[in-house]
Amino acid sequence: MAESNGTPLLEVSGATKIYKKGKESTKALDDVDLVLSGSPATITTIAGESGSGKTTLADTILGFTKLTDGTVRYRGQDIQRLPKDQRLEYRREVQAVFQDPFGVYNPFYKIRHIFDVAIKRFRLASNDNAARDLIEDALSVVGMRGDEVLDKHPHQLSGGQRQRMMVARAYLLKPRLIVADEPVSMVDASLRAMILDIMLRLRDEHAISFLYITHDLSTAYQIGDDICILYRGEIVERGDTQRVIDDPQHSYSKLLISSIPVPDPDVVWDTSAVTYEGN
Ligand code: ADP
Ligand code: MG
Repeated sequence: MAESNGTPLLEVSGATKIYKKGKESTKALDDVDLVLSGSPATITTIAGESGSGKTTLADTILGFTKLTDGTVRYRGQDIQRLPKDQRLEYRREVQAVFQDPFGVYNPFYKIRHIFDVAIKRFRLASNDNAARDLIEDALSVVGMRGDEVLDKHPHQLSGGQRQRMMVARAYLLKPRLIVADEPVSMVDASLRAMILDIMLRLRDEHAISFLYITHDLSTAYQIGDDICILYRGEIVERGDTQRVIDDPQHSYSKLLISSIPVPDPDVVWDTSAVTYEGN
């Protein structure tokens, strides 16, 4: 896909999503604008409490959900109108990592199959040896080896191994952008640190940008370049992560940030305790 100078990697404009169910309707996204330049690679955090529209935004960018209004452009092209070859390129270059990828894997197949399918679909290797090298390389990026996981089924791996595998599969495709929807919400603290560290390395050594979706601002503080605070489908504040967290301007951001745990291991940050009734 041609990348003309100045065209951002990703541009979300006026994104509005209304879910309708009978007489009820929910505005999950309300006129969201978001630009990721792609060069240099950055980690952009989307932070907000449960129900604020984070997953809807992620699914929209991944092309899984159609907007009610607005557009998502990848390298300047509306993702809903990509010609076939550009569509394949977008599919390869924009990858997803979910909270727990267990659900997306067919339990019948071995882990090897997940990698084989990706290699075949995107024609990444011309023979079995090249395919094997690609898989080993991808696994090594997340600190794993093929003989540990490839002949196992998804349920035989730990949650942490499955999560690292998902990152390895994404990396295998040499993406430009990884949309990571709460990738570390279900893993323990040591594994969380490891996965966040892998994300930083992928950004710095492989020029992969991330849309890092989280309800946990403390992890955003550790890795995020920019942050957008999402509240009821609207971005109420955005900017440099350190600036926003150290000096929030919007009253909702202030409330969210005041609930980040102080460095006391006995105090657990609980966003469900956050209640906000407007400006
Ligand atoms: P988050 O990921 O921040 O928790 P979501 O994007 O999942 O938020 O949801 C945003 C809002 O949209 C919520 O009110 C949710 O109930 C609603 N919603 C999400 N998906 C659907 C759907 N498929 N049908 C109807 N409502 C939905
Ligand atoms: Mg979600």
